[in-house]
Amino acid sequence: MTLLRSIFQFKCPNCREGSLFVNSNPYKLRELNKMHERCSKCNLKFSLEPGFYQGAAYVSYALQVLNSLIIFNLLFWFTTIYWKDIIYIILVFIIILTPYIVVVSRSVWIHMFVKHNSKKF
Ligand SMILES: [Zn+2]
Repeated sequence: MTLLRSIFQFKCPNCREGSLFVNSNPYKLRELNKMHERCSKCNLKFSLEPGFYQGAAYVSYALQVLNSLIIFNLLFWFTTIYWKDIIYIILVFIIILTPYIVVVSRSVWIHMFVKHNSKKF
């Protein structure tokens, strides 16, 4: 499994097989952010230190800004929508995408700190 697939399928960064999250659907909001304590395949502890996932907020911010810039430029240059209306459209996108971005940013964050170990578990 490639790095990108592992990130976007929310797999363990070490073995890329075990699931990071209890529920892989981020739109089940009651279980948003509920992670397994350890990987079911390789036993990697997912919380590397207390408050580890606070740093994922920076990833989340960067992803939301990137999304907003992409949406703004697509709508501004390729449609006739007034720019102030584009801002409202972006706000709707941000609200809809937030649960997904939260989960992806946690996955990106742990993948930044744990290297893939290709040995079989
Ligand atoms: Zn694992």
